[in-house]
Amino acid sequence: MSYRFQPQLQSILLTTFRSPHFPFSSFSLLNSTRESFCCGKDLEMEDVKLASELLVRDPLLLDNKIAAIRSAGPHKLQVIADFDATLTKFWINGTRGQSSHGLLKQGNPEYDEKRQRLYEHYHPLEFSPTIGLEEKTKLMEEWWGKTHGLLVEGGLTFESIRQSVADANIAFREGVGELFEYLEERDIPVLIFSAGLADIIEEVLRQKLHRSFKNVKIVSNRMVFDNDGHLVSFKGKVIHSLNKNEHALDMAAPLHEQLGDTDDQTADNASVKKRTNVLLLGDHLGDLGMSDGLNYETRISVGFLNHNIENSLSIYQEAFDVVLVNDAPMWGVIKLVSQMCSTES
Ligand SMILES: [Mg+2]
Repeated sequence: MSYRFQPQLQSILLTTFRSPHFPFSSFSLLNSTRESFCCGKDLEMEDVKLASELLVRDPLLLDNKIAAIRSAGPHKLQVIADFDATLTKFWINGTRGQSSHGLLKQGNPEYDEKRQRLYEHYHPLEFSPTIGLEEKTKLMEEWWGKTHGLLVEGGLTFESIRQSVADANIAFREGVGELFEYLEERDIPVLIFSAGLADIIEEVLRQKLHRSFKNVKIVSNRMVFDNDGHLVSFKGKVIHSLNKNEHALDMAAPLHEQLGDTDDQTADNASVKKRTNVLLLGDHLGDLGMSDGLNYETRISVGFLNHNIENSLSIYQEAFDVVLVNDAPMWGVIKLVSQMCSTES
């Protein structure tokens, strides 16, 4: 196990335990975190930057939710997170970061071009205001089905996934590794829901974080490769942009197959269902539906508002308990989790 993230975590924890009763308004969060995150820097400048990134509409409500989750204990908590533009950055060096689906080059330009043409046809339909949900869902199933078919037909190999990730313009938000490590140490599961491809997401985790986390599970479309490393099929139901939410937890079952132990699978699923407090991370309003399959007691939602901020801010603040703007790092989320897990009364 790597302890690469440990020094940063230590400093976060020290600050947390020195001041466990801070109400979680953006102001108090900033005051209580600046020692942790801004050592050696111009603190006032950092405060101004952080203040512009983290917004809490109702600090009292958020405080009450934190207190409820803390009192129930970490064994009742789980984290449900979207992947693209939630765990990953929206902008990378001034250009739009790639998605887990968009980064894939299958080593066959003819098929990359075919998939691009499908994107150009279906992507506008996905956001068309004149197409009803039922029809749109059928169109998405069609799109994902055709795309997956092309990946098989075009002879995708695991090696091209590895190379595509290595070449991709994709990066995690600062602090994602520290967040996963903090949660792993407390046996708190993280379910990552994505309409992308599980095998690519796992490769991004491997290449960008350089370690695996036993508490992090991917709920996404999973590939089956033959012994020569060629894609032959996909497992289970297709998860597309319009059904990853409503079926999210039902689809969580197959992900435990990778552990190769049926007893563990049953125990893990039962354990997730019993964890009735949720920290939800997403960048779309639709991501709030990721907890729909769970009869949760307390949910704290964090929304990453990455673009069109001026027009969407009030809607995001109504919908999410905490809103992070300007492609913010994960430090605010770690602080939030550490307050939820604090053992001091
Ligand atoms: Mg997303």
